[in-house]
Amino acid sequence: MCVNTTKEKQDTGFIPHNEIEEILASPIREDWTRLEEILSKSLAIETLTPEETAYLLKIKSPDMWDRIFEVALEVKKKVYDNRIVTFAPLYLANLCINNCLYCGFRRDNELMQRRKLSIEEVVSETKILCGEIGHKRLIVVYGEHPETGIDYICDTIKTIYSVKVPTKRGYGSIRRVNVNAPPMSVEELKRLKEVGIGTYQVFQETYHLPTYEYVHPKGTRKHDYLWRLYVMHRAMEAGIDDVGIGVLFGLYDWRFEVLGLLYHSRELEKEFGIGPHTISFPRLEPALNTPYVQETKYKVNDEDFKKLIAVLRLAVPYTGLIITAREPASIRDEMINIGITQTDASTRIGIGAYSDRLTEQELKRQQFQLGDTRSLDELIRDLAKMGYITSFCTAGYRCGRTGKRIMSLLKSGQEGQFCKLNAILTFREWLDDFASEETRAMGEKLIEKEMEEVKASMPHMFDKLLEYYEKTCQGARDLYF
Ligand code: SAM
Ligand code: SF4
Repeated sequence: MCVNTTKEKQDTGFIPHNEIEEILASPIREDWTRLEEILSKSLAIETLTPEETAYLLKIKSPDMWDRIFEVALEVKKKVYDNRIVTFAPLYLANLCINNCLYCGFRRDNELMQRRKLSIEEVVSETKILCGEIGHKRLIVVYGEHPETGIDYICDTIKTIYSVKVPTKRGYGSIRRVNVNAPPMSVEELKRLKEVGIGTYQVFQETYHLPTYEYVHPKGTRKHDYLWRLYVMHRAMEAGIDDVGIGVLFGLYDWRFEVLGLLYHSRELEKEFGIGPHTISFPRLEPALNTPYVQETKYKVNDEDFKKLIAVLRLAVPYTGLIITAREPASIRDEMINIGITQTDASTRIGIGAYSDRLTEQELKRQQFQLGDTRSLDELIRDLAKMGYITSFCTAGYRCGRTGKRIMSLLKSGQEGQFCKLNAILTFREWLDDFASEETRAMGEKLIEKEMEEVKASMPHMFDKLLEYYEKTCQGARDLYF
């Protein structure tokens, strides 16, 4: 195997480009025994090696792919059962000093109307999200700009946590704020930790250095590949042990990027004993006045998208996989049956768009166009039809179930026990406070089934669950295990 050169090590950190290219280029002999060996490792919730992952990526036989999809779902069920976590993105600002060729927010896009939310506007947006729609988790999104630096980020997150809105039976509030923001220094990350965030997300966009440097032009802060690549190391140093990584698929060869994500996960496991809590894989979407999106030759088609999700599920079996409303409903539903564990709904990505509602004007303030505009109520109903319960559980990080602890719970399948109970309680809350009649009826059937399962599989927890459940029905909120 090719050893990384010193120069390359300097340039690409723990992403050994030559090694990855070599692994991808070496041919394989398609063999059921070898395939089953690899799949059994995933079923044991063990991270795959680059060679094993590349083996899966190189398979051509449709029958073998069918088997891969089947086991991917099996692995997901083993770790996450039939739960899907939902959240909403909240875009705080579209001011940006960077010039990423693919993004509508890039500095040189003169057609983009720039703005950042005032604290009053953050309150209005949050009230709609937690008081009308019923979200409990947000991912807050920021560009990179001095006006929306760490002070603004911390102030807006504190504001979001402070909002409490009366609902039909109880009250609504945001209980977990995940953050998608530019890479920060350790000092800044410590401040972020202090305000009590959930996951800190930064996508590398592409792990391929020449492509990275091309799409993030010289002279911009984002041009610095290593500053971004090592942000999760800095996060861990700052005490943030819940991190999310990702790739923007469509910038470079998707197989290289899957291995990039795997090397990143393995590096975090090796250095800190904790892999990524989530992996995201947005595909490039059209954006206002952004011709690069049409020009790239690396767009990922639906078939390959399905394959990359299955391979990620198998290669990093414990991680949460996120698909967003960038994708059309049919794709999202299909991918949920392969490996997805988290998704958004009632999504608006314009700045101030939850309060404004979407107008023609609003399109000039959003980063790209959405593929799925289903409401949370519709999504929950569609998921229920597929047998999935929507979980609004945010207990994990509030009970210290993060970092190494959550990793070992996820790997041993024990985290699922708490999650199952919390999913029932939070789903009950949501049905009582926000559901349409039709969704409520479907949701109640699902709860009945879940209760039966708890009774059978965790009899020692059943009485406590019943107690919390009855209190929740009477209007108590935020009870969790
Ligand atoms: N500004 C921060 C950064 O770049 O890290 C975070 C916010 S940025 C708005 C969030 C993510 O949006 C980026 O990391 C990128 O992957 C994604 N994105 C940008 N342009 C996109 C496009 N045209 N289609 C889909 N996703 C896009
Ligand atoms: Fe700015 Fe992030 Fe968009 Fe790049 S992806 S232009 S850094 S908002």
